[in-house]
Amino acid sequence: MQRIIRKISAFFSRSKDLSIPDTTKAPVIVKRSKHGVSRKQIDKPALDVLYGLKRAGYDGYLVGGCVRDLLLGMEPKDFDVVTNAEPDQVKSVFRQRCRLIGRRFRLAHVRFGRMVIEVATFRGQGDGGNRKDRFGRNGKVSGPARELDDSGRLLRDNVYGTIEEDVWRRDFTVNALYYDIKNFAITDYTGGLKDIKKGQLRLIGDPKTRYREDPVRLIRAIRFAAKLGFKIERHTEKPIIELAPLLQDVSNARMFEEVLKLFHSGKALDVFEKLRHYKLFEHLFPMTDEILSEEKDDFPRIMVVEALKSTDKRIRQGKTVNPAFLFSAMLWEPMLKRKQYFQDEGFPHQEALYAAANDVIDQQVKRTAIPKRFTAQIRDIWNLQYRLPKRHGDRAQKLREHPRFRAAYDFLGIRVAAGESEKAEIFDWWTTYQEKNSVDQVAFANEVERPKRKHRQRRNRNYYRKRSQSADQDS
Ligand code: ATP
Ligand code: MG
Repeated sequence: MQRIIRKISAFFSRSKDLSIPDTTKAPVIVKRSKHGVSRKQIDKPALDVLYGLKRAGYDGYLVGGCVRDLLLGMEPKDFDVVTNAEPDQVKSVFRQRCRLIGRRFRLAHVRFGRMVIEVATFRGQGDGGNRKDRFGRNGKVSGPARELDDSGRLLRDNVYGTIEEDVWRRDFTVNALYYDIKNFAITDYTGGLKDIKKGQLRLIGDPKTRYREDPVRLIRAIRFAAKLGFKIERHTEKPIIELAPLLQDVSNARMFEEVLKLFHSGKALDVFEKLRHYKLFEHLFPMTDEILSEEKDDFPRIMVVEALKSTDKRIRQGKTVNPAFLFSAMLWEPMLKRKQYFQDEGFPHQEALYAAANDVIDQQVKRTAIPKRFTAQIRDIWNLQYRLPKRHGDRAQKLREHPRFRAAYDFLGIRVAAGESEKAEIFDWWTTYQEKNSVDQVAFANEVERPKRKHRQRRNRNYYRKRSQSADQDS
């Protein structure tokens, strides 16, 4: 009996711990001599910002991923600064170098050459009634400083406060460590240092509330688990599948940014598997998710896996990665399925390809706002898949000069790796072609047999437009 009572009381004290952050607890402060983070590892612009704030009499800290990564011996992607100076005060310290951005989260960007350091003001716990905490366009007051919608989602957060308040608004404990420019010590309010040692990712506060406030935290959990090789602590992990549908409420613009961060992290394959496991992937790429559960000729579809492997490899090699390539690979099979549908409806190949590409891109943009410049590239990559085989004579040279040739060639390579062995010959041909000098290239392309012309019935544009409309109505 006593054991049961002990268990119940332990449960309640634990759930209390999770739902109400203990703001009264003294932080752990690790002195410079007791941690390995040195100023040599910090980019000069970030140090300039920190010292600039200090000289002006403000507090300045590095916070977030940079402190976490430095402690883990990784190279930080960027350096985020947090201060008790309000955005306008940051602006007066750095003047022309500084630009204030954001409405939901008011921030200062301080520019040093090509590098931008993001400077945030401590977020507070207040209810936003304080006039000073409000802001609007052109500095005018407009609306409350903190705003939640009916489902508990944070629409706006511009209540300023102290470091002790700011820390509880951060997402994971390992992202809530502060490096103080005054004494180079690291301050830990939430047990982030212990979690780093344990290799675990733990949300600050009650996980369900924190996911509801901002559903993007669901995918941030996946990204950091993959990036850091951390496990997700069980309370943080438990609600993920149940709350996954909350991602539907996130704007498609923010989702696009998050998708790039997820899949250009160098751990795309791991991220993909985790997203599928936690039922998050279907909210990012619904059409891809649907097709992944279908088999093709008894084989699971592995095009996406091969594309992600190749993306990870490029990042390891320090090569550039292109969002259009990622999306063209993710959407290739949904596009093929749609194209088949149009062809079954009697559309010739080119028109079916065009209509399918339009449909699939339009659908995907509802989830992730792919900018126009990338959707144009996705279409090019897909179109070129059908043009690369036709490489005889001077066509080869023209294709080689196409701005999307390289991406299309890599894409073809992925199709081969994913099992389309009949495409291997064309891919190998293009590999050899690129290795030759320009004179030999001409001779090589002239050796390719010119395909026989197929007789095709010509129809006018209206015919296809009408067909497309009736096909849409059918679907
Ligand atoms: P990286 O830069 O390596 O991707 P990061 O942890 O620095 O990871 P950022 O997106 O740069 O992530 O955010 C900086 C910090 O801001 C985070 O470490 C965290 O403390 C806080 N933060 C960012 N996004 C959120 C969020 N959605 N909810 C709560 N806190 C957040
Ligand atoms: Mg960061």
